[in-house]
Order: sequence, then C-alpha cells, then structure tokens
Amino acid sequence: MIVLWIILGILAAFCLLLVIRALLVKDTAEQPEHYEKPEIDLEAAVKKVQGAIQIPTISMRDDTIPDKPFYDLQAYLEKTFPLFHEKAEKRVIEKYALMYKIEGSDPTLKPAMFMGHQDVVPPQEEGWTYPPFSAEVADGCIWGRGSFDMKSQLVSIFEATEMHLREGKMPNRTMYFCFGHDEEIAGKGAQAMCKVLKEEGVEFEFIFDEGMNPVNASLVGIDGPLALVGVCEKGWVNAKIIAKGNAGHAAMPPKETTAVSLAKAVVKLNKHQMKARFTPAVNMLIKSVCPKASFKFRLLMANADILKPLVKPILLRISPAVASMLRTTMAFTVLHASDAANVMPDESYAVVNCRVNLGEKVEDVKTHMQKVLGSKYEIELAQLGQHEPTSMSDLDSFGWRMMQKTVAEVFPGGVTAPFPFVAGTDSKFYDELTHCTFKFSPHITDAKYRAGMHNVNEYFKVSDVESDIQFYFRFMQNSCF
Ligand SMILES: [Zn+2]
Repeated sequence: MIVLWIILGILAAFCLLLVIRALLVKDTAEQPEHYEKPEIDLEAAVKKVQGAIQIPTISMRDDTIPDKPFYDLQAYLEKTFPLFHEKAEKRVIEKYALMYKIEGSDPTLKPAMFMGHQDVVPPQEEGWTYPPFSAEVADGCIWGRGSFDMKSQLVSIFEATEMHLREGKMPNRTMYFCFGHDEEIAGKGAQAMCKVLKEEGVEFEFIFDEGMNPVNASLVGIDGPLALVGVCEKGWVNAKIIAKGNAGHAAMPPKETTAVSLAKAVVKLNKHQMKARFTPAVNMLIKSVCPKASFKFRLLMANADILKPLVKPILLRISPAVASMLRTTMAFTVLHASDAANVMPDESYAVVNCRVNLGEKVEDVKTHMQKVLGSKYEIELAQLGQHEPTSMSDLDSFGWRMMQKTVAEVFPGGVTAPFPFVAGTDSKFYDELTHCTFKFSPHITDAKYRAGMHNVNEYFKVSDVESDIQFYFRFMQNSCF
C-alpha cells in the first residue's frame, strides 16, 4: 500500500512539474507596432501580375531555355516598374538571370536580398479551364501557369519596392534583388549570381526567398495565422540499390532471382528508416508556437523535451508531412529488373529519392543503407545530382526579429514559426553568403490551394496580390527603409 502511495505521489509531482513548466512559458517574440497600411491600387497590381503570367518563361527538363520569353519578361519588368529600374543598378548574368542593386545610405548595414525566380514549369497539355498563359481573372482568382509559383510574388516584390521609391524614399540598407531563370530545373542562374556575389565579397544580413506560407492554426488555439517560415532546407540525393546475380532463361529460375533479392532489400529498408530526431528547427518551431497555443497544447509543447519518447512515435504517425520534418525520408521511385518477360537479368536495381535531414550528410544515407542491407548489395549515390542540407538560419538575428514583427503587424494575431523546408528553392545556393535565410510566401494557404502549384488550373487569389504587396512593403519598411 505504501509503495502505491509513493508511486501516486511521484506521478502527482511529475504532473505538477509539467503544469508549472507550461505556466512559466514566456512570449519572447518581437511585438507589433501600429502603422498606417498603405493604399494599394489592387486593380492595377493585378493587371501587372496578369502581364507577367502571359509571358511563357518555361524552363524545360532538358535544360532548354527559350530566349524570347525571358527577354520579353526583362523588357516587361522595365516598362512596368520604371522607377525601380531608374534607381536600381541592373545586371544580367548569363543571359537571363536578373540581379538588381539599390544602394543604401548606411554602409555599416549589411545588405538585404529579396529573391525568387522568373521561370515556370511547362503546362500540362490538357485539363485547363482557361488557357495556361491567358491569366484570366475569374471567381476572385488569377488563373494560369506561374500564377502561384511565382509570378504574383515576383511582381509584388517590384511593386512594394516601387511604392517606397514613389514616396521619395531611398533605403538605408543596400537592397539586392536576384531572380534566377531556371529554379524549376538546375538553378544555374542562382549559382552564377552567387559566384558573382561571392567574388565581390557581399555578405547579407538576410535573404528572403519564396517558400512556406501562413496557415490556419486554430486547432492548436492560435487566433491568427501561423506563419511558417522555412529556415533551412533538407538535402537530397538519389541512391541506387543494386542486386546482382546470374542472368538466365526464365524457365529455370534459381531460388532467388535478382528481382526477388531487390524486393527483399526494398522491404527491409522501408522497415528500417533512418532515425527520427528533434532538430534545432523543430525545437524552435515548438518554442515559437508554445506561448500562443491553447493550454492543453502548451502543456505538451512546453514539456516536449521531457515527453519526447512519447511524442515522437505519435508525430511520426500523424502524417507524412510531419514525419518528413523529423527524419531523412526514403521514397522508392524507380524499380528496374528485366526488359523482357522471359529473361532473368543479372542485375536489378531500385532508385530511392532521399531527403536528408538537418545534422546529417548525404554520405550518412549510404552508410545507413549499407548497414541495413549488408555487403550483398551495391549502393551508388548521386544519380542525377545531390545537395547537402543547408545550415539553419540564425533566429537570434535582426532579420528574424523583423520577420516576427512584420507577421504580427500584417496578419493580426499572426505568429511566426521557423520550419524545416522539405522541398528545394534557389536560396540554398546562397547559403554561405548569409547567416539568415527565409523561405516564405506571405499569403495564407491550405492544402488545396498549394496543390494547384505545378498542376493544371494553377491559380492565385486576387486578394493575395494585396497580401503579398502589403507584407513586402512593411517588411522592407522595417528592415531596409
Ligand atoms: Zn517557385
């Protein structure tokens, strides 16, 4: 009986400790200031976005870049944003990549970079309600290839900057604007611009790229949107797993053909995934959401460090998206054995697309696979390229504080949360030029809206043109003007 009382006492003390830790959580985020939102001529802004979408700047998988649309877009931007082009120094790197610089008045401030891309993925041939480059406005949306990714955002960056310039202001912090032409394929434009900037010794206070979005977070008790800002990017590599054996006629198969051997490897590896971890980005995500969450979630989040062994298996099961934040993922995308039904090949292989978690290296993927599968299988890395994970942005920085402030100012009740970005954008190439990269697209989305990206009937809400311009305008005001 005494033992039972002791156990109950320990449990009660443990629960009390969890409650106290949840009650002691402090909100350390940068607080909003009142400011006058500028008037935006939305009709005119939407026309500018439509004009940009109507220029088919398609980058093709075979590395083909058509000259005309990219030159047309350059001319269009010059015509549409004359003041920007008057005040900025423009350089065209490797024919298509656009780099602009507006000199700031205070040389002691490190420059800022706003970036994105000019290109779009090829449109699907069928299934469009409106032709993909018509940029039709209907049902409160602009329809077309590149409307979401990312012509609207591109135009908003120019528009917001020009609004400041129209007020007769010049920045105190030097501003760079870099727009690659092949983000959807190889990112050669961004790499060429990065090389130039590196040679010139430019270091940035922050780099602001396209990326994640504000989302509804009422589920965890947050009133305004939760602005998920990508602060690091997972690495990637394609691994090829090869099973070898003897070729022969299918009439006399051995006990285990190379195809069977490969199938066993796939099943085994799928079962033995790489270790799930709470990376610094995930820890900071929890820390940012915790003060604004409802008490039951705060109780969980404030004690995430203690409750990790309990929480981790739950998170891994919630959804593939949540699981991808915690571990290196392995997607088996190509399986190849014989080309003929009656021929046993001497080699079968699988290609695994791996997204490498922060704190791990591409080579760790091979080590893990070899450890699970043993020496019976050959493993080759870098089928069609690879990239190591980027560094994690400094969240104790001026840029991050301005991000928190701007989110709370532009989206009432909005909370900023760092997020590990699991896809890829051009800013990974500039990683060594800054301690602070944001991958953020400042319009509220949901899964359906995002699914239009790279898909038929891609669309962008007219109201989000205003949202993007307002956000860039205020962020620039807070950080550069
Ligand atoms: Zn994009």
